[in-house]
Amino acid sequence: MPDPTNATKIFDTKSADETITRGREIGVSLKAPLLILLSGELGAGKTTLTKGIASGFGAAAEEEITSPTFTLIHRYSGARVPVYHIDLYRIEGARDLDTLGLDDVFTEDAVVIIEWPDRMPPRHDWPILHVTLAHSGEDARHIEITPLQ
Ligand code: ADP
Ligand code: MG
Repeated sequence: MPDPTNATKIFDTKSADETITRGREIGVSLKAPLLILLSGELGAGKTTLTKGIASGFGAAAEEEITSPTFTLIHRYSGARVPVYHIDLYRIEGARDLDTLGLDDVFTEDAVVIIEWPDRMPPRHDWPILHVTLAHSGEDARHIEITPLQ
């Protein structure tokens, strides 16, 4: 029998606000350490969902959570453990990854949320939430969340 805790959850949202609300619901019940991998094209809603997850977890207010487009990494410390929000879209190969200090991020209990996770080597030492987001209309998004222990 499939483990119900590992079942894929599917959300179809019709606005950015609805995606944030869904993110918040996910964020309130998270347990660290946790790696959240967000896949989907530009504009799919990865950063928008992160606003909900991180604010729901208590890491920062929603408006403080912005895309780490240029800094590549943001750290929010309002919750019991830090939340890291990392965007690997602009990473150029292994040398850039090394300078980012990702290994340090994984030395403490934390929630680590990564956009474009295919640009780094996979990690299997932390529980993972795999999230895929896709456009299904102008303001509609299809979101699938699969836990991997
Ligand atoms: P990504 O980080 O995947 O590149 P963003 O979250 O930065 O995407 O941007 C998503 C854009 O799409 C935002 O401008 C947001 O307002 C808009 N949007 C419209 N509908 C939705 C929705 N249902 N869910 C998430 N974002 C939406
Ligand atoms: Mg983004």
